[in-house]
Amino acid sequence: MKCALVTGGSRGIGRAICYKLAEMDYYVLVNYKANEQEAQKTLAKIKQNGGNGQLLKFDVGNKAEINQVLSNWAETNTDKYIEVLVNNAGIKDDELMMWMKDEQWDSVLKTSLDGFFYVTRQVLSSMLMKKYGRIVNVVSLSGIKGLPGQVNYSAAKAGVIGATKALAQEIARKGVTVNAVAPGFITTDMTEGLDEKELRSIIPVKRFGTPEEVAHAVGFLASAEAGYITGEVLSINGGLYT
Ligand code: NAP
Repeated sequence: MKCALVTGGSRGIGRAICYKLAEMDYYVLVNYKANEQEAQKTLAKIKQNGGNGQLLKFDVGNKAEINQVLSNWAETNTDKYIEVLVNNAGIKDDELMMWMKDEQWDSVLKTSLDGFFYVTRQVLSSMLMKKYGRIVNVVSLSGIKGLPGQVNYSAAKAGVIGATKALAQEIARKGVTVNAVAPGFITTDMTEGLDEKELRSIIPVKRFGTPEEVAHAVGFLASAEAGYITGEVLSINGGLYT
């Protein structure tokens, strides 16, 4: 059975990615941090659509928890391995740098950058052994352009972009690709407080994107046919920044 792990699969973009990978016949491991109810909804919809999967609760910023949950999963599923990993979990905590607290810096970096490192390292060895894998990191326009008020978030996402390019070169010959998608403004809980009407005017496509539009790109990069694309960062931002 083909398995895919999506971090932060309980809501928003991660949830749409779970649906897309289930549609591609993956058994989907839906990771979440705290929101069990929403994670259950994701899994229920996967099953309703004829797919299958399970929930895996862990905090991507907690390496002991990651190691424990993923090692335990691997030990009890010796016939399976995770061939697609989507590092999607992320948070923002915006503040001008001048006023930014240590915790705001630490928590954002921990979730996106540490999360990428600890989760990916844990699943990498089986991909390398099987000589096939697809890793897709969900970064952001902020990590490419840098956005004011998001020094922590921009640094975290830019860090993941650098890591994507470096890891891609380390493991390309083993049949494992590493790419990133960089969304602009996408309608999810994360962008709830933003004024879409006002922001629309600066987006050439004149609207926010949908989680499904990001999931479509992730599905493409996760497909077997995308094997000659690695180390790439694909912007999904309605033309906002090219
Ligand atoms: P969202 O609706 O706020 O959902 C965040 C997801 O991440 C939830 O499933 C949440 O789990 C999970 N999560 C947060 N911290 C976690 C942790 N420490 N461990 C495990 N899971 C954790 O966010 P979204 O808009 O879908 O964003 C998804 C990704 O896209 C993020 O990396 C974000 O930076 C990136 N992105 C979003 C936008 C946008 O406009 N929305 C733009 C660019 C990039 P719980 O439900 O358990 O809390």
